[in-house]
Amino acid sequence: MSVRSITILGATGSIGTSTLDLVERAPDRFSIHALTAQRDVAGLAAVARRTRARRAVIGDPALYSELSEALAGSGTIVAAGAQAITDAAAEGADWTMAAIVGTAGLKPVMAALAGGRTVALANKESLVSAGSLMTRAASDLGATLLPVDSEHNAVFQCFPHGSAERVRKIILTASGGPFRTMPADRMAAITPAQAVKHPNWSMGAKISVDSATLMNKGLELIEAFHLFPVGADKLDVLVHPQSVVHSMVEYVDGSVLAQLGTPDMRTPIAHTLAWPERMETPCARLDLAQVGRLDFEAPDFDRFPALGLALAALREGGATPAVLNAANEVVVAAFLEGRTRFLDIPLIVAKVVERYRPSAPATIDDVLVIDGEARIFAREILETVAA
Ligand code: NDP
Ligand code: MG
Repeated sequence: MSVRSITILGATGSIGTSTLDLVERAPDRFSIHALTAQRDVAGLAAVARRTRARRAVIGDPALYSELSEALAGSGTIVAAGAQAITDAAAEGADWTMAAIVGTAGLKPVMAALAGGRTVALANKESLVSAGSLMTRAASDLGATLLPVDSEHNAVFQCFPHGSAERVRKIILTASGGPFRTMPADRMAAITPAQAVKHPNWSMGAKISVDSATLMNKGLELIEAFHLFPVGADKLDVLVHPQSVVHSMVEYVDGSVLAQLGTPDMRTPIAHTLAWPERMETPCARLDLAQVGRLDFEAPDFDRFPALGLALAALREGGATPAVLNAANEVVVAAFLEGRTRFLDIPLIVAKVVERYRPSAPATIDDVLVIDGEARIFAREILETVAA
């Protein structure tokens, strides 16, 4: 088997670290082309040295000399700045993990697709903002886009590719997050520390908050819409607190196929890394006798209004998903910094979506303009309802 070159965009994050864990267990199969981070110089330098990466790129240009010093004598080529991340992505490794958080990942993902190789996509925000443009680019450029998000990876494994008419429904499972059973009157006091403590998954801060508001599941509906050609009406959400069934595909004959596993992102990452083959992972094996029972319930749209907002954005299409996503990124960051309250997250996002109604983007640059303007609206509204 030939050695495959790997680029990891967002190498210091939760998904980046899980990816490196798998790659470093098979050093004879993979070589690291480029690793990127935004501010974590120490983390990036350590992993670049360990893996003898060809390139290491830090997003914050002010950190260039710090990274250069940390990698002095290592042989790794150092660069800094957002454009340098996109340039590294454009060099087209055989396999690229897109694990930057937020629409900051959009240009690098598009650059990686232009290389025409395989892009494993964790960065759901870029697909939510620019879904049609991105999937069209992937097919025009001959690139393979593989979903890393556990639900979409599960659907990908169960889906009849090329025969979407056989599908009656795609059912995305949701853990329900840390506040699934919390009474509405206690939700006003939710703190960032509580919100980032997910019951089943260990993830970065932003997606953990999204899981707590259920915005994550809403973004995932939009993500599924772009990845699987069944139409918005055939997408459903089902709460499943154990996070064992990662999602399901219901066929027209009544058969339901599901993918199961322990909640460990290394399983879907390994699926995309080895695809179309399979590879060993160190993940805990699923022991259903020990799990004992699997529970399911309908999502609560009243206590978690973000889910309905995302669903409405999906149905509306055009620029609305990009506006929703950008507003959510700003408000979640404010919540994590203690500048707004948990229950205000969907309220502010809803206001931005209501007030800012640009026409549908035709290019990635249009998406980035819409994203930037939605952020300005979100910051203005945030000021008026600050914590
Ligand atoms: P983390 O916050 O843990 O990591 C984010 C990574 O992106 C870090 O390497 C960070 O660098 C880098 N980064 C942050 N901001 C920027 C920026 N402006 N420009 C370039 N790079 C940046 O996130 P996760 O790993 O949890 O999530 C990554 C993506 O994967 C998200 O889109 C998320 O929704 C998705 N995802 C994550 C899952 C999970 O289990 N964690 C599951 C499914 C999807 P630095 O460390 O220097 O800040
Ligand atoms: Mg997910």
